Amino acid sequence: MSTILSGKEVAAALTDALVQRTQALKDRGISPTLAIVRVGEREDDLSYERGATKRCEKIGVAVRSFVLPADASQEELLQVIDQVNRDPEIHGCLLFRPLPKHMDDETVRRALAPEKDVDGITDGSLAGVFAGVKRGFPPCTAQACMEILAHYGYDLTGKRVTVVGRSLVVGKPVAMMLLQKNATVTLCHTRTVDMPAVCREAEILVVAAGKAGVVDASYVSPGQVVVDVGINVNAEGKLCGDVAFDAVEPVVDAITPVPGGVGSVTTCVLVGHVVEAAERTCGMA
Ligand code: NAD
Repeated sequence: MSTILSGKEVAAALTDALVQRTQALKDRGISPTLAIVRVGEREDDLSYERGATKRCEKIGVAVRSFVLPADASQEELLQVIDQVNRDPEIHGCLLFRPLPKHMDDETVRRALAPEKDVDGITDGSLAGVFAGVKRGFPPCTAQACMEILAHYGYDLTGKRVTVVGRSLVVGKPVAMMLLQKNATVTLCHTRTVDMPAVCREAEILVVAAGKAGVVDASYVSPGQVVVDVGINVNAEGKLCGDVAFDAVEPVVDAITPVPGGVGSVTTCVLVGHVVEAAERTCGMA
């Protein structure tokens, strides 16, 4: 039997600490506030928005929503972002992407003030992650993986860690964050030759491929720790990860479930970034 690394447990611990930090800010007259900017009514966005709003309420962080219709112009969206940038009472901004096809992602991302980029979408935030310095904020999902490993006490120094997936949202930033903790990191992708063998060599495996069950028992070996970032819907309409949980769980030492794993921690990390952004405005961070 492997250990189940519960994202809910990690989220609860992070929430407790954030409640205290939020109160300390309020005692100084600062109310940490997240702006949520959404174009259209995509079900994925709405579901994430509900989760983020609930987490904000629990921690005491205020939320202001800016919703535009799916056919809004890019200019209208840029005006909203400008309003968010200028408002000193807003500390962080969550902008849902992908944007509608008639908008240019790079132009919109560049418009956001780096200090309010709590979801790590600007070039400045990503440069911070790659340079290993505090600038902007890392993408929340990548940091959620790190929070889980830290909460369960895994020392990453010298560990062989393999990451499956090389997106800018998860794979690449998590690889850089692992490197920052002195892990020896291997990054796998669709062109990797004999991926099962590469994965079996790892002591820690982080999977962010976006393909349900792509990592099966042939990819893992005894003693491994597996972090499954994937969120997919299977044929029965149930949420599942990128790891074939039933086949992998009996082999490895520890594994995150889906749901109840990385996804549970991501919104907490987002709210944590809002709190830190507010702390930075008054020299508390
Ligand atoms: P993406 O599609 O942008 O990137 C997937 C990456 O995996 C790509 O680099 C691709 O080359 C690689 N890949 C795809 N199939 C592969 C295969 N068979 N073998 C090796 N590499 C393969 O996806 P993403 O945005 O990085 O998200 C990855 C997964 O994480 C998705 O399931 C997504 O839903 C999930 N996700 C979860 C959270 C969360 O909070 N838990 C947040 C964001 C994304």
